[in-house]
Amino acid sequence: MPDTALNFYPGPSRVYDQVKDYLNMAFDEGILGIQHRSEKFVEISKNTVALLKKKLNIPQDYYVFFTSSATECWEILTQSLVKQKSFHLYNGAFGQKWLEYARKIRPESTGVAFDVNAEINVADLQVPTDVDLLCITQNETSNGTQVKEPTILNLFNRFPDPLIAVDATSSMAGINLKYIKADIWYASVQKCFGLPAGLAVLVCSPRTIFRAKQINERRYYNSLVMMYEKMLNYQTTHTPNVLNIYLLNKVLEQRPLIKLTDKDITQRAHQLYDFFQEQITGNLSLLIENPEVRSYTVLAVKGEPKLVEEVKKKAALQGITLGNGYGAWAKNTFRIANFPAIPDAEYEVLKNFFLKNYA
Ligand SMILES: *Cc1c(COP(=O)(O)O)cnc(C)c1O
Repeated sequence: MPDTALNFYPGPSRVYDQVKDYLNMAFDEGILGIQHRSEKFVEISKNTVALLKKKLNIPQDYYVFFTSSATECWEILTQSLVKQKSFHLYNGAFGQKWLEYARKIRPESTGVAFDVNAEINVADLQVPTDVDLLCITQNETSNGTQVKEPTILNLFNRFPDPLIAVDATSSMAGINLKYIKADIWYASVQKCFGLPAGLAVLVCSPRTIFRAKQINERRYYNSLVMMYEKMLNYQTTHTPNVLNIYLLNKVLEQRPLIKLTDKDITQRAHQLYDFFQEQITGNLSLLIENPEVRSYTVLAVKGEPKLVEEVKKKAALQGITLGNGYGAWAKNTFRIANFPAIPDAEYEVLKNFFLKNYA
């Protein structure tokens, strides 16, 4: 099955059709064997950073790094920016995993879980005073919720000292994130970027780099100060995923500014939510009842495990891949990506499938 078959998995997910041509171009241009200390690589890397800033609306004074995954970012942030502990606000499997990984390295790290239908209550939030890093998952891929911009701003205002770190793995490049309102943002590219797995983008505010320099942790190949020093010349501490950086560059070149993508994605999200709410049988319902916290990029639909299994099987027979549920919702939900690489026409096919079978 080609990757362009109807694939609504929220990561790894459908890649842009153009990736096929870009792969050939990379081969023909001799990109696959270039040295990562060469001028050619530096040019691609520099260009990609500039494109990320331009297309995603990342402030000019923020720093951009290439890592291999969001999971690696969890580790980098804990190693290099947390002296004592981080504090995590989570409502799903990815946010919780982040805390678990942080604890392996900084055992004093803690957090609080909040309800999937609730917004984070910033005003009443109790955060230990000596926290180095405050961690949130902007888009919780496991249950299809999101933390919206005003909440992030409130956190930033109420807790001015710790760095605010945001996992935006399944929303960056899909929605217009306000980078200025937090210190650290990261995402791997196999979700909203519409690219193959094996690369992630880490975005840091100037004060993040200032802290990293103060702490000056240099024990690992991916220590943030060392990454920073190499990135001054658009290089990495190790041989990076040059092919994927090249693909990222090519995809970004053809993408509109994020403002436009955001408009399309949020509009399509509202249409999909309305569709499932109004037109589909009551045996299948939206997992998240509160419209205010529903994700724009990942939808979760709930049903009896037997029905969920049947829906996925029936869809597969029509060449439609739905995302499995994840974590606590593995059996009683399926997920649908609303990512920019998936054309509108494919959502019409998806809706027709549901209208025909589950209306
Ligand atoms: C997919 C995902 C991750 C993990 O990404 P990797 O690239 O596999 O490390 C982390 N956080 C969120 C919110 C995700 O959706």
